[in-house]
Amino acid sequence: MTSASSPQLRRPGVLPVRPEHAGIEPYGAPQIDVPVLLNVNENPYPPGEAVVATLARDVAAAARGLNRYPDRDFLALREDLADYLATESGVRVAPQQLWAANGSNEVMLHLLQAFGGPGRTALSFAPTYSMYPEYARDTSTRWVTGRRADDFTLSPEAAAATVREQAPSVVLLASPNNPTGTALTPETVAAVCEAALEVPVPLEDGRTASAVVVVDEAYGEFRRAGTPSALELLESYPNLAVSRTMSKAFALAGARVGYLAAAPALVDALRVVRLPYHLSAVTQAVARAALAHSGELLAQVDALRAERDATVAWLRARRHRGAPLEVAPSDANFVLFGRFEDRRAVWQGLLDRGVLIRVVGPEGWLRVSIGTPQEMVAFKDALVEVAGL
Ligand SMILES: *Cc1c(COP(=O)(O)O)cnc(C)c1O
Repeated sequence: MTSASSPQLRRPGVLPVRPEHAGIEPYGAPQIDVPVLLNVNENPYPPGEAVVATLARDVAAAARGLNRYPDRDFLALREDLADYLATESGVRVAPQQLWAANGSNEVMLHLLQAFGGPGRTALSFAPTYSMYPEYARDTSTRWVTGRRADDFTLSPEAAAATVREQAPSVVLLASPNNPTGTALTPETVAAVCEAALEVPVPLEDGRTASAVVVVDEAYGEFRRAGTPSALELLESYPNLAVSRTMSKAFALAGARVGYLAAAPALVDALRVVRLPYHLSAVTQAVARAALAHSGELLAQVDALRAERDATVAWLRARRHRGAPLEVAPSDANFVLFGRFEDRRAVWQGLLDRGVLIRVVGPEGWLRVSIGTPQEMVAFKDALVEVAGL
């Protein structure tokens, strides 16, 4: 044994952790095993037996070829995604306009890896999704936020002014927004895309570029009638990327599949930063099988939207300490409501009654995901007891 490896000479390990990661806890909502899980905006309805049968068959077929690397460019999946988007939103994009990864979180990390970096700025509008600053941090991109109005909306003028002021290389817009449920108007998205085209972002080689505008439509399928998708603006803006996920409406959070639609040149820039074969053959098979059953998988979306609207109405009719509850209008499968002097106590009271919701958003607010009718009854009963509504 050499002295270098003798245990008594080893000093307590200091790892070369990057300063921006020192003391940071990994992101994630508490995973607690209770009967009613309404904290991470999952779809409460598991895939049906017909979907499961196709998935099992197609995963078995993929398994027989797992000695080989998967199709690096997942062409068949891109075609299926293009067909799905055409059906869902009426917008037809070519397969080369699609990109996919292990959840839309990875899609957005690819965007920051491709278009962010040292000396560059990523911009969003708070309150919004708490993962965005993490993509910026992990790609050494400067992170700035503008503010949404008190009702969580964002006007075209305010949004465009912030883009002009900050000259970001990436703008992240969640619509419907998490945790507020607020959808942006097409006018606001267009104003941000226009401002991004006007404001020159200086490049390291002396040229200038336009910012990439990302509209994160993770909850797009839950939008209310009359709320358009930003996909409709793709044709007008070469700097726009619209991101979607199979985690929410598709009831496939466990499969980890997200994707985006954008101009082919933008997608090509993402191909540079992805790891080789990042989308496993199993993931591709699962995603394609699920897309073949999109009708069944999305069947519960209408029921969830109706339950969402009913939950908003029920909360609005309640009073807490003499004042009506505040409830943000929602185009998503969750509702932000408040305000409570001690929101953590309300959260804990619900948890003690077997109902897990989320402490997120501005001080005093809580977020509840929409579950089955029985789960929502459990939530309402518990809330009445805990908050004395
Ligand atoms: C849930 C969510 C996503 C989706 O994440 P996946 O990685 O696709 O599971 C993306 N954006 C927002 C704002 C979300 O709330």
